[in-house]
Amino acid sequence: MKFYVRTYGCQMNVADSDEMGRHLQARGLVQTEDMDEASVLLVNTCTVRQHAEDRAFSEIGRLKKWKLRQAGRKVVITGCAAERTKEYLENRFPHIDLVVGAKSIEDFGRIVDGLLERRDTDEDLEYAIPATNDRVSAFVTIMRGCNYSCTYCIVPYVRGRESYHPMEQILSEVRDRVAEGAREITLLGQTVNSYHRDGSKGRDTDFADLLENVAAVDGVERIRFISPHPYYMTDRVIDTMANVPQVCESLHLPVQSGSTPILRKMLRNYTREQYLKLIDKLRAAMPGMTISTDIIVGFPGETDEDFRQTLSLIEEAQFDWGFIFKYSTREGTPAAALESFSHELIEERHRECLAVVDRIALEKRQKLLGSQQEVLIEENTFGRTRTNYKAQVTGNVLPGETVRVEVTNAQRTTIEGKVV
Ligand code: SAM
Ligand code: SF4
Repeated sequence: MKFYVRTYGCQMNVADSDEMGRHLQARGLVQTEDMDEASVLLVNTCTVRQHAEDRAFSEIGRLKKWKLRQAGRKVVITGCAAERTKEYLENRFPHIDLVVGAKSIEDFGRIVDGLLERRDTDEDLEYAIPATNDRVSAFVTIMRGCNYSCTYCIVPYVRGRESYHPMEQILSEVRDRVAEGAREITLLGQTVNSYHRDGSKGRDTDFADLLENVAAVDGVERIRFISPHPYYMTDRVIDTMANVPQVCESLHLPVQSGSTPILRKMLRNYTREQYLKLIDKLRAAMPGMTISTDIIVGFPGETDEDFRQTLSLIEEAQFDWGFIFKYSTREGTPAAALESFSHELIEERHRECLAVVDRIALEKRQKLLGSQQEVLIEENTFGRTRTNYKAQVTGNVLPGETVRVEVTNAQRTTIEGKVV
């Protein structure tokens, strides 16, 4: 029996999909990239913005036909939108067999057992050897949930309060991923660098300890992490990043806004000045590192002056790339009670902001022309630099190999180069 997974949203969801996939594989199911071959179809949804939710729901609607084409097919809906709208989904789409919200991902194995027992065809489970995950770059979830309450954000409602995985569990997962072929490990959590657990040495184990321990696992060549929160970007974490060779010189550090009054209304727990100071510290500790960010435009009450502050912060921080999001009202969040801006104004600010981010990103990429970069090959001739640029290389390469590449074209977001 085969299963197919469609994932919407962030890396956290990609990691959750992998985890659920492993549960299905442990029960003898085999993953397929072809929906038509599958008997179980899993849609892992996102609800961070309305647009993401709408896309998932229209796909779920279309699955009715897929299900009818073969007896015994199962539709499983999981993730953040599933958590938020379980009842609605079950009523609106009766062809759904199972809804598993984001808070229950860790119980997925047990929950899905019930579904697989309810087989209504005599199609045999294909007890093949579970396929291993051969990704060169693997995700490892270190925490779930979020204790922040950024006023625009639905995540704490659908993923619940923070819980941290024990260090030993994380290291064992890292070892598993390395044994399957991973060379690069990305640690995942909503405020990933707030990680802490009771330590054995009389003090808490923190994120810096975790980075050191992951680096000590044989075979780990690169470490990344998302999403760090600026508040927990302590000197100790920065020093560890700079001193542990496996930690890559790249950081995605969401800022959301360049205006302190808006940051306050968002409850982000830092000011414009503190954020910029942090960027200076990071660049001083790791010269040549790349820093990227997330920005929300059109948060309720964002004045023209607030918006200009965001544009000027982008110039000052010199982000290497960034994701600009149009504010999307999420029912139940504090910001939903505030009056939102017109679609046109949000579109206009989005265009303007994107133009600034893209211009700086291109200027920074152009500086890479002619330079040599270390690229870890992930698939065919595609890989990534330590600074997290996607790279297409010319030369004889194999997945898992690290090669030196001279950059020949940096016009697009995926740079090009030849092996030297
Ligand atoms: N936990 C991460 C952090 O605090 O940096 C971010 C998690 S969230 C899934 C990813 C991004 O979605 C955020 O950084 C934010 O820019 C964006 N986002 C969250 N809620 C949003 C909303 N209501 N409208 C638009 N963008 C939103
Ligand atoms: Fe949402 Fe803020 Fe938590 Fe990130 S830190 S998941 S933006 S509430």
